[in-house]
Amino acid sequence: MPRSLTGKKSGELFERAKKMLVGGVNSPVRAFQSVGGAPVFIERGKGAGLYDVDGRSYVDYCLSWGPLILGHAHPEVERAAREALERGSSFGACHRLEVDWAEAVLQAVPHIQKIRFTSSGTEAVMSALRLARAVTGRRKILKFSGGYHGHVDSLLVAAGSGASTFGHPDSAGVPEEWVRDTLVQPYNDTEALERIFDSQGSQIAAAIVEPVAANMGVVLPSDAEQGSRTESDCAAGAREVSWTAAPGREGFLGTLRRLASKHGALLIFDEVVTGFRLRYGAAAQEWGIVPDLTILGKIIGGGFPAGAYGGREEVMRWVSPEGPVYQAGTLSGNPVAAAAGLATFKLLKKTLPYSRLKRLTEDLTDGIRKQSRESGVPVQVNSIGSMFTVFFTSQIVKDYDSAKASDAAAFGRFFQGILRRGVYFPPSQFETAFLSAAHTSKEIEKTLDAIRAAFKEI
Ligand code: PMP
Repeated sequence: MPRSLTGKKSGELFERAKKMLVGGVNSPVRAFQSVGGAPVFIERGKGAGLYDVDGRSYVDYCLSWGPLILGHAHPEVERAAREALERGSSFGACHRLEVDWAEAVLQAVPHIQKIRFTSSGTEAVMSALRLARAVTGRRKILKFSGGYHGHVDSLLVAAGSGASTFGHPDSAGVPEEWVRDTLVQPYNDTEALERIFDSQGSQIAAAIVEPVAANMGVVLPSDAEQGSRTESDCAAGAREVSWTAAPGREGFLGTLRRLASKHGALLIFDEVVTGFRLRYGAAAQEWGIVPDLTILGKIIGGGFPAGAYGGREEVMRWVSPEGPVYQAGTLSGNPVAAAAGLATFKLLKKTLPYSRLKRLTEDLTDGIRKQSRESGVPVQVNSIGSMFTVFFTSQIVKDYDSAKASDAAAFGRFFQGILRRGVYFPPSQFETAFLSAAHTSKEIEKTLDAIRAAFKEI
């Protein structure tokens, strides 16, 4: 018999938490509102496993929402962080590790020529938009429906169903006029791109996009159909980069690159999720499309708070103290995050787990598709590398509208069904599940068993 959803101690902690923390949480999705039930409270994580305060264990596919590509509490990452901590948790002054950290990112991502570290992805996005507006002298920002870039005021804009529409704020407390300069277009729609740049291209400071959408669930850019480059292409790390052309047949990202260049707008790839997730470097390198600015977060901090923005030298030179765009941070370039990030980079570079992760993810996603057919529960499984989403719909999911056609209530029942059987997915239909290098075929088998049983209940 599957156990109940939430254990006694988790339940008690949640009751206590709700009295003091808003909604009992420090980030909304953690409250389990869209999947029902109360959240489990975590005691510790190790490898692919999460352990809650009631002594239950889970195979974890949330992995702190992506950073933990090596799994929880990797001994070498832990050791690096501990050694850094012994020398002091923060200096608010220059130190060696931040230089090593920057060097490692620049070596892995040739189109980042200069970088600034922050403490979160949101902060990095906010700063990059300010920079783009300063450099171009323009106001408008183009984003895509279903794209999430942190809780930056001007980007909290709902998916507009119409074509070129001014945004409407998605959150209370964001004045209409703050999103008036935010343009929203559908993901993967190259014709819509042509139209918006034709009509407003001269006013667009930047287009910001997740090269693989991860926040409406996983949605691949149409460029992915052209296939990707090999790991050795990436490891070779050619320093010659072209900021205007995308080689080969043009997909969504390629079209965006071409139009942004043509109209003098900057192209920002938000790689907070995809950076170092699909390869040792940026997803941009997967399709040879070069953005002007890149946002990083999650994996680069090795599980500690970190973000970064970087790109073309001539653009980044505008940032203070070299240039007039002000941006600062008390804990920016934090030595403990730098140490954990560097240790993560070192291990990723040494072990190159990416092809194994991809194979393991395919074993899981193929298994889910097979069980969907056998059980008659229609799902679409989108996946790339070690990222995937199980959408409860029979339609192909290629943008926000098709993602929203999913049956979120069915996802909620599925989520609860597998949670009871010891499998922890991100608690929402519109999120990305991740694998780590610590996952093995043993965890995949256990997960498929849980999914088989959960499908039966649906
Ligand atoms: N961009 C993307 C693509 C994200 O997925 C996220 C967070 N999940 C952010 C930006 C914001 O990062 P943070 O939560 O570190 O502020």
